[in-house]
Amino acid sequence: MFHNKVINSAVLLSGSNLGNRVEYLTFAQLELLQAGASILKASALYESEAWGFESSAFVNQVLIVETELSSDQLLQLLQVIEKKAGRKRIPTSGYAARTLDLDILFFNNQIIETADLTIPHPRLHERRFTLMPLHEIMPQYKHPVLQQTVETMLAKCPDMGKVEPFIAAL
Ligand code: ADP
Ligand code: MG
Repeated sequence: MFHNKVINSAVLLSGSNLGNRVEYLTFAQLELLQAGASILKASALYESEAWGFESSAFVNQVLIVETELSSDQLLQLLQVIEKKAGRKRIPTSGYAARTLDLDILFFNNQIIETADLTIPHPRLHERRFTLMPLHEIMPQYKHPVLQQTVETMLAKCPDMGKVEPFIAAL
């Protein structure tokens, strides 16, 4: 009997705007590896002004991972990692400063719509801070709902927010 394991490809966006932001993004990668995921590609780090609320600047990164976890299991893992990074959720507020935010942008080429999960991430095409790192590592990937490549979505993106390569202070 063969028991072939299904390997899923997921594209994640990590972000931090509190404390040692780069350390939190590194922590996220280590925790993913620890949980048995493989990281196939990681974008550079990008810094952007907080979007939609007054707060300090974010550092973001896109990761392509392979995992045996289902999309629900992956979301659970990401929430455990966020919690370990000291993230406090304030249920009433929408946007808020966070030590670590881990979102699933894409999962295989699937379209998922449940109470807990919307994939592709519903706002990824509106956000320059998501599209810039995505474009760096997978410009020709086609959004399974919008049927546009990352390159096209970035070219059409009306978000004028400044997104710059993050240069670590030495
Ligand atoms: P946001 O990332 O929008 O700032 P949160 O990180 O607090 O907000 O996430 C709020 C909820 O978004 C999570 O509890 C999760 O169930 C839901 N969610 C829906 N789709 C996704 C997705 N693609 N990736 C991550 N979380 C998602
Ligand atoms: Mg999130």
